[in-house]
Amino acid sequence: MRFSFQCPKCSSHDVIEVKGSSMNVHQKIPLTKWSMKHAVLDRYLCAHCGYTEEYVQLTDSFSKWAKRELKKPGKRYDDFV
Ligand SMILES: [Zn+2]
Repeated sequence: MRFSFQCPKCSSHDVIEVKGSSMNVHQKIPLTKWSMKHAVLDRYLCAHCGYTEEYVQLTDSFSKWAKRELKKPGKRYDDFV
């Protein structure tokens, strides 16, 4: 959906890209308990069936955070997602 702009559920090509902004709280997910760091989400919406997909913007800040977190085996993120 992100690259093909075709819905994987209904095959429609009526896909709308909504780029995330760090200024919009609805387009961010907290990465730390105190919400000091956020990941910003880009969304892809199917105008035909309503299916959506979300992707974190792969910023340097996110990549550094992810690299640190991946070193913690077995960690889950129920608190944040
Ligand atoms: Zn669809």
